Formats: sequence, structure tokens, C-alpha cells
Amino acid sequence: MPDLFAGLPPIFYYLTTVFLGLCLGSFATALAWRLPRGVSMTAKARSACPSCGHDLSARDLVPLLSWIFLRGRCRYCRTPVGFRYPLMELATLALCLVFHVVFGMSLMTLCAFALAPALAAMVDIDFRYKILPDVLNLTVGLAGVAAIAAASVFAFDAPSHLVSMLGQGLGAAILYGGLAWGLRFLFLKLMRKEALGLGDVKFFAAAGVWLGLSPDALAAFLMLSGIFGVFIALVWRKATGETEFPFGPALIASFLAVLLWRGLYFVVI
Ligand SMILES: [Zn+2]
Repeated sequence: MPDLFAGLPPIFYYLTTVFLGLCLGSFATALAWRLPRGVSMTAKARSACPSCGHDLSARDLVPLLSWIFLRGRCRYCRTPVGFRYPLMELATLALCLVFHVVFGMSLMTLCAFALAPALAAMVDIDFRYKILPDVLNLTVGLAGVAAIAAASVFAFDAPSHLVSMLGQGLGAAILYGGLAWGLRFLFLKLMRKEALGLGDVKFFAAAGVWLGLSPDALAAFLMLSGIFGVFIALVWRKATGETEFPFGPALIASFLAVLLWRGLYFVVI
């Protein structure tokens, strides 16, 4: 796999990843705050403390570091800020580093970086609102298409590689999405229960673009989703007393496990 910026010392790549990871982490918290409230991502909104309303300046908004130096409190009123946002920033940064280590630094890996803030925001939003926003599912799917296109640039016969890998990615999206839709239909008919939401079905399709048509990947994804889903359901019921639980985090954990285990099927070796 051709490396980006070949010839520079490895520390340069890692510093680049840390910088991008922190910026994307900050973006993840903006997604998680704005999307459920219907605030446009392009709208100018000043950040303010939700307790005292004081405008937050650049030094209050440095990803992770501000939270650590202010010991998790607002600089102005000392109200505890909570760990959701720094946790999302940390998760995004960690994901970028893991992608870097597992896939190496390449154009495809940069496309995978786009997954990190989308997935971190999806976990947070699904836990709180039990929805997976369309725009984030679309981001996951389109990042996959972009990664396939990036991989084709380096293929010997670029046009035919692009056509065949896009065919596989889109075919897998239809297969994964169709399967999830079928399961949703079955659960609705047999158990009169919405076990799989429409957002979950769309996430299946988006994951398919990244996982391709490998039967092993599909089997592992379904099995792990089931195991993680049962685990979250049990913890959720104990913690909240509700029987309906957010399934997105289980799907996202399984997707990441299979993606890291199988690697990128569309990369030319
Ligand atoms: Zn405050």
C-alpha cells in the first residue's frame, strides 16, 4: 500500500493523526450537540456554558486539554462539565490512532478517519435519543465509497478496479440493508416489536460498503451484533428499567471489530 508523505519519520505521521484526531473529536461533540437539536452544522453558534451562560473562548474549547486542566469544571462558575464530551473526543482520537496503526497511513486511512467522529456521535446520540441520524449513516456509507475510490487510484487497472470494488461495496450495502430490513419485518410480524429501527437498517447498509461481500465478515458482524446487543439490553434494563434499548452502539462496536479484523477488502496489495 503506498504511504502518504513517504520518506518522513514515523513520528510525523503520528503527530498528524493526533492533531486530526483531536480536531475530529471536537467535531464529534458538535455533531452530538447539534444534530438532535436540529441546529445546522454550518450555522454560527457561539459556545456558552449551559450553567452560567458565559461565552466560552478558544482556550476553554481545546479538545481534551481544557477539560483536563479545568478538572472537568466551567472556568467561570466551576459547575462540573461532565465527561460525555471529553469521552467522545478521546474515543474519536483513539479510533483514528487505531486505524492508523492497523491500516497504515494512506488515503484510505484518511477516509476511515471520517468514520471516527460520525461513529462517536452516533453512540452518544443513540444512547440519549435512541436514533441514528440519517446524515451520519450517510457519512459512514459515503466515506466507504470515497475509500474505495482512493484505493482504485493505486490499482494497476484503475477503472476496472473501481467498477468491480464499487460493485462489491454497493452490492454489500444492498445485502446488509436488505437483511436488516427483513429481520425488522420478521420481528414486527412475529413479536409485534420494533427490534430494529429504520436507523439501524440504514446503518447495516452503510457498514456493508466497508465490509464487502465476504460471508465471514457478514457472519461475524451478525453474531457480534447479537452478543453486544444482548449485553447492552441487560445493562440498559438494569440501569433504566426500560425494555427498549439503543441497538446502535452494539452495531457500531461489531462493525469496528469486523473492520479491524478483516482489514480493507478493496485495497490493492
Ligand atoms: Zn459556567
